[in-house]
Amino acid sequence: MTENIYTPDVVVVGGGVAGLTVALNLAPRKVCVITKSNLGINTSSSWSQAGIAASIDKDDSLEIHLKDTLKTAKGLANEAVAKKIISESFNVIKDLENIGVKFDKNSDGSFNLGLEAAHSHKRIVGSKGDSSGIEIMRGLINEVKQSEHITVLENVSIDSIMHENNTIYGVIGRFTDKNMPDNHVIIQSSHIVLATGGLGGIYANTTNPRSSYGEGIALAAEVGAILTDMEFVQFHPTGLDFGLDPTPLATEAIRGAGAFLVNQNNDRFMLSAHPDAELAPRDIIAQNIFKQIDQGNSVFLDCRDTIGDNFKSRFPQVHSYCVKAEIDPAKDLMPIIPVAHYHIGGVKTDITGRTSVDGLWCCGEVAATGVHGANRLASNSLLEALVFGKIVANEINSQPFKQEQQAINSNFLKTYKEKTRSKIRAKKYIWQLRSTMMRHLGIVRNETSILKGLSEIIRIERDSKGLSAKLNDMILVSKFIIVGAIKRTESRGCHLRFDYPNADPKFLNHIDQTQITMEQDIESILLEKDLPQEKTLAS
Ligand SMILES: Cc1cc2nc3c(=O)[nH]c(=O)nc-3n(C[C@H](O)[C@H](O)[C@H](O)COP(=O)(O)OP(=O)(O)OC[C@H]3O[C@@H](n4cnc5c(N)ncnc54)[C@H](O)[C@@H]3O)c2cc1C
Repeated sequence: MTENIYTPDVVVVGGGVAGLTVALNLAPRKVCVITKSNLGINTSSSWSQAGIAASIDKDDSLEIHLKDTLKTAKGLANEAVAKKIISESFNVIKDLENIGVKFDKNSDGSFNLGLEAAHSHKRIVGSKGDSSGIEIMRGLINEVKQSEHITVLENVSIDSIMHENNTIYGVIGRFTDKNMPDNHVIIQSSHIVLATGGLGGIYANTTNPRSSYGEGIALAAEVGAILTDMEFVQFHPTGLDFGLDPTPLATEAIRGAGAFLVNQNNDRFMLSAHPDAELAPRDIIAQNIFKQIDQGNSVFLDCRDTIGDNFKSRFPQVHSYCVKAEIDPAKDLMPIIPVAHYHIGGVKTDITGRTSVDGLWCCGEVAATGVHGANRLASNSLLEALVFGKIVANEINSQPFKQEQQAINSNFLKTYKEKTRSKIRAKKYIWQLRSTMMRHLGIVRNETSILKGLSEIIRIERDSKGLSAKLNDMILVSKFIIVGAIKRTESRGCHLRFDYPNADPKFLNHIDQTQITMEQDIESILLEKDLPQEKTLAS
C-alpha cells in the first residue's frame, strides 16, 4: 500500500464553485483542493444553467430581493444571513468578471438579466443563455491553475476526517482510479473546509451528478458535527423526461421567458393552481405536476409559440439535450418530470461558515447556513456558495496557524483501512435505496410512506452488511432525512406532507441532529410505531 502525505495550511474537500472560491481567497496560505473527478467534472457548479441572482436592475433593490427570498423561505430563513449574501451579490459578480468570466450583456453594456420563478424582478446574471455554470467554472479553474498557493488533487475521494480527543487533524482518502485502489492519500491540516456539494444522488431521479450523494454530510456527522434542516430536499419541477440518468434540467428561465406547462389534454393546469401560474414558487409547481402525474396525466413544457425558433440561441444547453432526444422545442412539446435538485439542509454553520466542530468549516450546498429557510429561491445557491466561499476564507485567514502536525493515530489508520478494503459490488442496494427515497421520501410524504422508507433503508443496511463505504454514507444520509421528515408534522416549503397539509407555527424552528441523536430517534420511532427493530431485522 502506498500513502501520499500532504501538509498544507488548509485542506478544501470539493472543487465546485464553493471550494474553488475558498481556495482562491485563502492566498497566501498553502491550500490543497481535492476533487473526486478531474477539476470541474461531475460538479453541480459546472452543470448550473440560469446563473446568479443579483438585484442590479435600476427598478430592483436589495430590499426587494431580500423580501422575495424570505417570502419563498416560508418563515425559516435566517434574515441576517440572507441580507449578507444578497448585499454581496454585485461584488461577487464583479470578482468573477475580474478573473475573466463573461456574462450576457445588452448592447449598452448592462447585464441581460433573466427572470425565474418567485423573483418579482428580472435579476439572474447568466452566461450564454443557459450555460452559466460552464463559464463561471472556466474562469475559476483558470485562476486556480495560475495560483501558486493551491495544489489540486484530482480523482481522489475523501473517506474520513482524522480526529482524536475532539480534535480534527486532516483527511484521508484514496484515488478513484480503479487501477490503483490501494493508493491512499493523507492530507494533514487542522483547518478543513467541506465544499462537497449536494445529495441528489440518493434519489432515483435527480439533476445532480451521481457522485453527489451527501458524502460531506456523512464525513461531518462522523466527527460529531450538528446537522440541520435535513428534511428539506428541493425538487425541480422541470427535469427533461428523456430517459437519461441523471435527468437533464430545463432551467426555470425557460418559463421566465414565457413557456408554460400543459398536460396531454392541453390543459394549462397552473393557471387555476396559483396566481403566478408557471412562475409560482418551485414547491407549488412541483406539487401540481406531481398531482397531474398521480392522476395518470403526462406533463409537458410548451415553448412553441412563446420562444419558438429562438430556443436554440437562448437555451443552447437544453436545446442540445432536445436534439439528442429528437425533440424540436419550436415544434414539439417537451415531456417533463419533477426531480431531486437541491438540498437545503446539511451541516449547520454560523454566519462565518464555522460548524459545531472546531477547525471544520463548510460552504456551498453541503452547508446549511440558514439562508434558504424551507425553500430556496432560484439562483440564490451559486450566490450563497460564492459569498460564503469568501467569508470562510477570510475567517480562516484571521486565525492563528499551528505549525506542528499532530501524529496520525495508528489505530485510526488501521480501522480506516479495514473499512475501505471491501470490494463489495453494492450497485443493487444503491439502486434500491435511490428508488426507496424517491418513492417514500420524495416530493410528497406522509407518515406511512416515511415509515415504509425507514423499514426499507434498514433492510438495505441489514442485507448489504455494511460492507460498502459509499452505500453506508447513503444510508446514513437517508436516515437523517427520514428523522427530519417524521418529526416535522407539517407542510412547509419543499417539505410537503399529505397528512399535515398546512404549516404549523410551532414548527417555526430547525430540526438539529447529530449521528447519536439520529440513531436514538430511530430506535424510538421503531418502538413507538411498532416496526421491526434493527437488531431483530439483523438477526
Ligand atoms: C443541473 C443544475 C442546474 C443548476 N442551476 C443553478 C443556477 O442556475 N443557479 C444557482 O444558483 N444554482 C443552480 N444549481 C445549484 C448549484 O449549481 C449548486 O448548489 C452549487 O453549484 C453547489 O456548488 P458546490 O461547490 O457546493 O458543489 P459542487 O459544484 O457539486 O462541487 C462538489 C465538489 O465536491 C467534490 N467532492 C464531493 N465529495 C467528495 C469527497 N468525498 N472527496 C473528494 N471530493 C469530493 C466533488 O468532486 C466536487 O468537486 C443547479 C444545480 C444543478 C444540478
